[in-house]
Amino acid sequence: MRKAFITGGSRGIGKAIALKFQENGYEVVTPSRQELNLTDGNSIDAYIEKHKNEYFDVIVNNAGINDIHEISDITDEELDNMIQTNLVAPIKLLRGFTGEMKKHHYGRIVNIGSIWAVVSKGGRCVYSATKNGIHGVTNTLAVELAPDNILVNTVCPGFTLTELTKKNNTDKEIRTISGDIPIGRMAEPEEIAEVVYFLCSDKNTYLTGQKITVDGGFSEK
Ligand code: NDP
Repeated sequence: MRKAFITGGSRGIGKAIALKFQENGYEVVTPSRQELNLTDGNSIDAYIEKHKNEYFDVIVNNAGINDIHEISDITDEELDNMIQTNLVAPIKLLRGFTGEMKKHHYGRIVNIGSIWAVVSKGGRCVYSATKNGIHGVTNTLAVELAPDNILVNTVCPGFTLTELTKKNNTDKEIRTISGDIPIGRMAEPEEIAEVVYFLCSDKNTYLTGQKITVDGGFSEK
């Protein structure tokens, strides 16, 4: 049975991704924040130490946070937490778990980026930096790990109806944004999960190092 490790599986896009893998017969490991707190370096180190000999066929770095502020209002704590959670934690997890992938000569990795690593909007300076950064991780590892049959991609969701979106936008804003998306609505988390699943499945044998934007055409306007 193939095994998938997915961060942030408690809700939103991560929950949809976890369900998709479960439905397709994967054993899914999706630690709670109590088991693995991505803003806490000690928690990450302890989790990796405990699981260092475990082989995951699939790793999806999904969990992420987005505090929206103009540059002058970003606190040091928000800066550190976003960089730690969205960028440092995925790098540490990949450092910890790709060794076993190499031994098994098979792996599929998806890092979740964002539409804000494709187009820009005010207030997202640090978030965009982390999401562009995670794509840098993807394209380097795509080259580094290809000889070991490990394929690495970034999926950049556009506006997706999750708690993060509801926290950052009022109902009225959600309606306005939907009107700006060529498809005329936000994505459902399951639509992002479909793409992630394909990239991590055995059907993907040649696609690596790519930034795949799933945004209903928003970035093409
Ligand atoms: P949600 O806010 O709905 O869920 C976030 C998930 O990440 C939760 O499972 C949460 O766990 C987990 N998480 C957050 N911080 C930590 C932490 N410190 N340690 C462990 N787990 C943590 O997010 P979405 O589903 O909306 O977003 C998922 C990914 O997609 C993120 O990377 C986000 O940046 C990206 N994205 C989302 C878009 C959208 O429109 N929703 C658009 C573009 C990108 P807990 O339940 O414990 O809080």
